[in-house]
Formats: sequence, C-alpha cells, structure tokens
Amino acid sequence: MTFDPEAPLERLVGKRTADGLKTLGLTTAASLLRHYPRRYAEPGELTDLGSLENGAHVTVMARIVSTTVRQMRARHGALLETRVTDGTRELSLTFFGKSSGFLRSHESRLVPGRTGLFSGTVQLYRGAPQLTHPDYWFLDEDEESAEEAYERTARPSPIYPASTRIASWKVANAVGVVLGPLTAEDLPDPVPAELLAKHGYPSLFESLKSIHTPATVADAHKARARLRYEEALVLQAELVRRRALTVDLPARARPRTGGGTLLAEFDAALPFALTDGQRAVGGEIAADLERPHPMQRLLQGDVGSGKTIVALRAMLQVVDAGGQAALLAPTEVLAAQHARTITTMLGPLAQEGMLGGADNATRVTLLTGSLGAAARKEALLDAASGRAGIVVGTHALLGEKVQFADLGLVVVDEQHRFGVEQRDALRNRAEVAPHMLVMTATPIPRTVAMTVFGDLEVSTLTEVPAGRTPVTTHVALADRPRWMARVWQIVREHLDAGELAYVVCPRIDPDDAGAADDDGGEPVDVDESAGPRPPLRAVLEVAEQLAAEPALGGAGIGVMHGRLAPADKDRVMTDFTHGRSPVLVSTTVIEVGVDVPAATVMVIFDADRFGISQLHQLRGRVGRGDRPGTCFLVTSAEEGTPSFERLTRLAATTDGFELAQLDLETRSEGDVLGASQSGRGTSLRLLRVVRDADVIARARADAEGLVGQDPTLETWPGLAAAVRARLAEVDPEFLERA
Ligand code: ADP
Ligand code: MG
Repeated sequence: MTFDPEAPLERLVGKRTADGLKTLGLTTAASLLRHYPRRYAEPGELTDLGSLENGAHVTVMARIVSTTVRQMRARHGALLETRVTDGTRELSLTFFGKSSGFLRSHESRLVPGRTGLFSGTVQLYRGAPQLTHPDYWFLDEDEESAEEAYERTARPSPIYPASTRIASWKVANAVGVVLGPLTAEDLPDPVPAELLAKHGYPSLFESLKSIHTPATVADAHKARARLRYEEALVLQAELVRRRALTVDLPARARPRTGGGTLLAEFDAALPFALTDGQRAVGGEIAADLERPHPMQRLLQGDVGSGKTIVALRAMLQVVDAGGQAALLAPTEVLAAQHARTITTMLGPLAQEGMLGGADNATRVTLLTGSLGAAARKEALLDAASGRAGIVVGTHALLGEKVQFADLGLVVVDEQHRFGVEQRDALRNRAEVAPHMLVMTATPIPRTVAMTVFGDLEVSTLTEVPAGRTPVTTHVALADRPRWMARVWQIVREHLDAGELAYVVCPRIDPDDAGAADDDGGEPVDVDESAGPRPPLRAVLEVAEQLAAEPALGGAGIGVMHGRLAPADKDRVMTDFTHGRSPVLVSTTVIEVGVDVPAATVMVIFDADRFGISQLHQLRGRVGRGDRPGTCFLVTSAEEGTPSFERLTRLAATTDGFELAQLDLETRSEGDVLGASQSGRGTSLRLLRVVRDADVIARARADAEGLVGQDPTLETWPGLAAAVRARLAEVDPEFLERA
C-alpha cells in the first residue's frame, strides 16, 4: 500500500489521539509529519527531577518506587499516590477518585519497578513538587526490548508544540506510528536531486526522520536547514513561475505618443521639477507600458517621496494611447482625496465636455461603495463608456458590476492591504491583462520583497523632493499635566501661524470596546508589555475636551472617522483644508496618503498602541509642505518599558528604511507577510523572511534556474506537487480553477 499524505489521522493513530492532534490543527498524515519539534531535550534532561518549576508543564522519566491508595479523611473520596525516582530525587504523582474502585486501573498499571514517562503540570504541595493526574506511558508497553528503550532515552527527545489536550510525548508517539513504516519511495522530494547534491542536503525522507527522531542534535539541525530551504524553494518556485506566466501574457502596448498629449501638457504645467528618482522610475514605467505584455511593477518610496505624480504620469500615458486607468485606494478618504488632487492637478485637462476644458481633456471619476444610487450609476456609465479616462475608487472598483471600455492600467496605492490573490483576480477579470503598478510607502528589504512581491519588478524612489523639512518628533507622557499643557501651547503656535493640526486617537467612541476604526484598515497593534493602563482615548471624547481647552483659544475642531457618511467626510476634510476647523481629531483613517500641505503639527494619543510603520505613516501627514512639522507621541507607557523604548527610537529617526527594519524586528511573521501569504499560518513553518534572507536569496536563484528550464515545473513532480499543495492551502479555490 502506498502512503497517502491526505490520510486522516483518526485512521492511523486512533480516535483519542487524533482528537488531541486536532487541537493542534493536525488532521492528515502529511500535516503530522510536518509538525516539527520546537526543540530537543538532551538525553538525561527528561529524568532530571531537580529542575521542576512550579506551574511548568513537564515530562519526566522515572522509575516507580511505591503506589498506595487510601481513603481521604477530610474529604469524600480516595487518593492514589505514586512515588517515582530518577535514582537520586523523588517526585509524587497523585490521582483522586470517588472511591478506591475508581483508581483501580491506575493502581494496576503503576506497579513499583516499572520505568515510564510522566507528564503533567508541577504543583507545590507542602513545599514538595507533585504532578496531579499526570499522563503516563511505559517504555515496556511498546514491546521494545530493554536495549531499545535505553537507546531511546539516550537520544535527544523531541519536544513538540503541544496543548493541554495532548502532551508532547503523545505527539512523538503518533509521529512514530505514521513515519515508522514509510520508505524513501513513499515521500517524493520537492527539492530536485540536482539541488540536493548542489547544497549537500539530505533527502526529504532522511530529513523527516532526523527532525523527528534525531540520533544527535546536530543531525536535527541539518534536517531543519534543508526543510527550511525547501519551504523557500517551493514559495519562490511558485512566485517565479507566476511571474513567468504573466510576463508572457498578452497585453495591449500603450506607447508614448508625441507632443500635444495630456502627458506633455501636464508636464509643461507642473509647478516644480521632477526629482531625479521620479524621472528615472517614470522612464522604467513608460518603457514597461510600451511592451505588449503586462507590466508588473512595485513602486516603493517613503512617505512624501512623490509617488502619486509618478502614477498619474503613467495613467496619462495610457489615456493618451486610448485606454483607461483605474486607481485603487485602501480607504474612501484616500480615494476621494486622490480624485480631488488628480482633478486639481490636471486642471483643464480633466474637464472633458465642460466649458473651458481642453480639447483632448479626459474625465476623472470617483467610484466608491457608498456613492448614492444616481451618482453610482453615472460613475459606472463613465467607466463602461470609456468617457472617464481615470477612475478612482476603493476595492469596490473590483466589483463584478464594474465594467471598463478599455482598462489599460491599474494602479494600487498603499499596497500593504492588497494581496497576491487580489492581483490575480483583477488580472483574470479583464480579457486582456491590464498593466499593473503597485505602490507602497512601507520600505521593504529585498528578501521580504522577493517573498511578498516575488511576482513583481521593484522600483524605488530613494529621495524626497528638495526643500522638505523633516518632522521633529517628541514623546510626551500623558499623565504629566505640564507636558500636555506645553503640547497644546505648541499646537496653538502652529494654528496662530495659519497652519493646521491633526489629533489622532485609537478609538472613535469612549463607549466602544474595540479599538480600530473600520475604515482605517490596519488594526491597532495591541502591545500588552506595559501592563494595565487607562482606557484608550477616543475621538469623540477628545474632541469635546479640546473644545474646552483654554490653550487652543476656541479654534474650530473637526471630527473624522470611518463611520461618517462619505458626504460628511468630504465636508470635514474641506473645512479642515480651508482652515475653518483647523484642528482635526481623527482615527487612523488619515494614516495613508492624506495630503494637506498646511498641516504641520500632529498629536497622537496612545501612540504606543500603534505599530512603528503606522506611526511613521501618520507622522508623514505633517511636514508635506515647506514649513517644518512637529509630531507628539503621547503615551501612558512607563519610561523604560519596551513600548516606551520603541517610541523613543521612532522619535530619533525619520529614515523609513531604518524604521522598517526596526518594525520587522518587533513584528510577527504573519504581520510581515500579511494574511494572504502566511495563509492559515501553515505553509511557512521554519522559514522566517527577515532572519533567513540568505536562504531565500539562494532559493530564488535556484527557482529561476528551474523555471528557466521548465516553466511548468513538471520535470520535477515532487516540486510541482508541493507548489500545488501550497497554492491549495493559501487559496482553496485554486484547484478548481486550475
Ligand atoms: P507619497 O509618495 O507619500 O504618496 P505624494 O505623491 O503624496 O507622496 O507627494 C507628496 C507631496 O509632494 C505632494 O504635495 C506632491 O505634490 C509633492 N511633490 C511631488 N513631487 C514633487 C517634486 N518633484 N517637487 C516638489 N514637490 C513634489
Ligand atoms: Mg501617496
């Protein structure tokens, strides 16, 4: 019988164990084989009764000295006590039962002289450690010879991620049941033989044996290295293959045309010179658009580096060539702002059909989920008829009902909320794949980009336009009235100079239990390291307090959050930008992309509750003009805590790349990769994109070699199968489509 990786565990290890394994998310033979030990106990470590810490979950190996059952006097019921020893120390195991009869089956097995593994939580009873109702398992019950049992204890023992429902040693047993009967032929290797030879890696079969039952800890490490490389290779093979496939897809070329175009007129009217970076990246994109295959490009550039203009120039090239461009933004606020700024920047060039519009003018249409029925109908018509050259919107743009006359380019702004699958979905919807430009303000180290955006070419804007003054950042303690008074005084000075202020809070309403704003996208990072603290500040509450704050002298205060109706959001933003209410109290809806040059000061409440890159994004909202910006990070975290430390480091630098590194160091893998890549947390078990940069780079080069030889990967059935399995895991619909 051949090995079936999908075989249900219940059939292999019995219902009880299978139920326990299910609590670890393990249901199939393959998933159990890929449930790797977290670490290994050195031989002998198990039997050390000297290091039992109160409350620790432990497994000890020991010999039974005595077992006694007695009636309890104080309470009703019976007590069984077994004393075990490792030769020097003793430990007591206790079991309670309604009567001695209930304890009989334990009594019959816990016979003096037997050696076994005992697993439970250590409790101190009158100062001595004991295990109550431990699980136990005897070495002789498996009919192992004494020699085998001895050898087993002389090997490192795997310690598995376990749960209260199943102990580590039971997991080890179950792995043994599944792995034991297998041979090398049962496990097709995802790593092609030539790559195993090249890197000197053991086969999959040997690696699984070594990682689960290593002869030495060094063997286990070798196996881990190979399995980690395998994860990187499977992922990169998929990404490189995906890219190879899209590179060959047909797309309509959108060549640059001569003078008299929207692009030429736009460039001529631009009030400033493009930076060298904008020019260079613009050239790369323009060349991509001229090819009859879809552009797949990531544009990264720090906050304020001027990505929007680069994108707009690309859109104009496409419109000039007769196509349409769509711009996707993560929030309604940002979509509305983009539509507004683009319309303003284009001036007469955006006034198609209007008096005073240029002859070749086009139309910029906003299409979001919350438009009224009439406006929505008109926007849909603009898109479908081709009358709108540029359609700006949120994800609603991807809705089934939205049709374009000739969609040539899709620009995705602030990519971190838009995964590989959504890119695919978008591409698959159009008859001819559109060109795609993805923009992100979160600088990404090369290997992370390879992993998350492995199907994209990368362009980077490294400079910000000249004349910018960097934002000065201060950390302020919320519970020091004198500090806060100073903060409001400084805000007032900015207002008196005709400038605008943001005040950011993590919640909308003081009565809300939850933290994040729904339209703000990114959830607030909850960092519990600083212990219990006052409730999070809320927009509605803070707005009220500021209205009564004498230092602000009655300045108009606007309120912004994701629950406002779109028309109200528009009105609030307009009142703010025109200085009618120069203080805007808001949730993180303003986090990305909002561009109001007159805003120069920002106060962020509960700053420790936000992630580093989120704070950097928020702070990027001030200091966009030529006047210096100031940002206050208000926190009730104690000085000296990690939370406070993080804010201090953020205050000390404005270098996005340095902060990205800091951010990555303090984030979990799932955060780094985003939900779509980490899947249900199952496909990357050993690989860590930040730590394993060199493994990823090596796997990438190998994957490019393989895809170059055979883009279908079918030459290496093991690899092809592993890629399919991964895709099915990340995207359950994949197999149906394929
Ligand atoms: P981001 O990269 O954060 O999206 P934006 O595209 O919003 O940045 O640009 C930030 C601001 O800089 C905008 O007000 C924009 O008009 C301005 N800007 C862009 N390019 C230049 C330039 N070359 N010179 C001066 N200002 C520029
Ligand atoms: Mg932007």
